[in-house]
Amino acid sequence: MRTLLARGQQRGGPGMLQPTGMEGWLEVFAHPLVGGLACAGAGRRTAGARAVCDRGGVWIGDSMGKGVLAHVPGAGAYAQGMDVSSLSAAAGGPAYTLPPALLNKARALEHLRTALYFGGTAWDLLFLGLLLRSGAGARISRWAAARTRRRGGGPFSERPLLQGLLVAPAFLLLLALAGLPGELIGHRAALAYGLSVEHWPAWWGDLAESELITLALGTPLLLGVWALLRASPRLWWLWLWALLQPFVILGVFLAPVTLDPLFNHFTPLAAQNPALVKRLEQVAQLGGLHIAPERMFVEDASRRVTGMNAYVTGLGRSKRIVVWDTTLAKVPPDEILAIYAHEQGHYVLGHIPEGIAFSAALTLGLLLLLARVFRAAVRRWGEQWRIADEGDWAALPLLLLLATLLSFLAAPAGNAWSRMDEHAADVYGQRLLQQLLPNAAAVEVADFNRLGRAWLEDPAPNRFVVWWTSTHPPTADRAEQARRMGTP
Ligand SMILES: [Zn+2]
Repeated sequence: MRTLLARGQQRGGPGMLQPTGMEGWLEVFAHPLVGGLACAGAGRRTAGARAVCDRGGVWIGDSMGKGVLAHVPGAGAYAQGMDVSSLSAAAGGPAYTLPPALLNKARALEHLRTALYFGGTAWDLLFLGLLLRSGAGARISRWAAARTRRRGGGPFSERPLLQGLLVAPAFLLLLALAGLPGELIGHRAALAYGLSVEHWPAWWGDLAESELITLALGTPLLLGVWALLRASPRLWWLWLWALLQPFVILGVFLAPVTLDPLFNHFTPLAAQNPALVKRLEQVAQLGGLHIAPERMFVEDASRRVTGMNAYVTGLGRSKRIVVWDTTLAKVPPDEILAIYAHEQGHYVLGHIPEGIAFSAALTLGLLLLLARVFRAAVRRWGEQWRIADEGDWAALPLLLLLATLLSFLAAPAGNAWSRMDEHAADVYGQRLLQQLLPNAAAVEVADFNRLGRAWLEDPAPNRFVVWWTSTHPPTADRAEQARRMGTP
């Protein structure tokens, strides 16, 4: 499972090819881990968060879902025809390997992802810094004030809420524009490496749609922040945090029925593969979980990507199992069970409520810090940057800059938490599978190799980069662990 709300924070799972983009700032308000928690729609972002999913993990994509990523030309077909038996038997060597031709590509891709992530964050900060220092932010805010002022003047002629209705979308659009080059590089690379099959017109459509959602959610959020800032200059961050929590939980609940269908089609799994439904139910029952066949869906991921995935999403009545159509086409049933058992682990082990609690705590700390640093910066440089006070809309670029910076610095904490959960879900999934399949470890190892190839996972990623950016342990570690568990 992985995150949903993010962007900067991490490269969703393996496979992510996106630069951090501008929505990194949103993470301060609702930590991406929450999304991940719900694993809401592989790779979709909700409320500016990216929902990533598991195993093959996924996305690239900017705000909800466009983007994508995925692997090498021909790798999907390669994975399909892969000889599983030779892999599982190969004790001694590394548990996860890539053929030489794929290895070079995987390494190049890993470098590109790293550059896009760190470079993208640096670019975001630089862009926002320039908006501040050049006074462009202040000019936009004065322009909006002039357009919304009551006629006649006087001390109460300003209408800050109306002013915000102009300023907030203006900044969100500027940020989207600034992030565009990174998005383009990411999608170009995803196409070049064969990870994505989405043509440019469709990609632009997805991009426009996700930007509209960012505007629709980001504008009221920023208006709320400003209203609270003016009403309670000392404790606005605490009020904001308290008000956001119900929305975060509601978002996890609603994402699969509201946001996900905006980007993909879902059809009942039972119509396509009734045999698989039976087997998935078996795994669910073993784990004490009951998910009715009507709650199992196939997602048309092949419109965008070549990689494979499956995930559990939603909360309570919106809970469901989703299998990508690419998975049905390329992964043998036993391995689909392995992928699913891992996902089920997130549910059964309580990673969703736990993750919501962790994210809430992290968000609270980040907002407190944000409020302190924001206040200090306005006092120290306000005059120079033409910001009257904290409630001045001219301070918006400063707030976004600090939010982006704090999200970036907090990424290792959220990712460490996520990797811990992923590891626990791996162990749970394999133990469950062992009750159904005598060769469970071999199936797991084969599956990690298949997905690692499809998503072009580097067998030896840089450990510092993993520590900072990875939501999942490296595929090589996961395959190694699977093999160890199968060794008596
Ligand atoms: Zn997972």
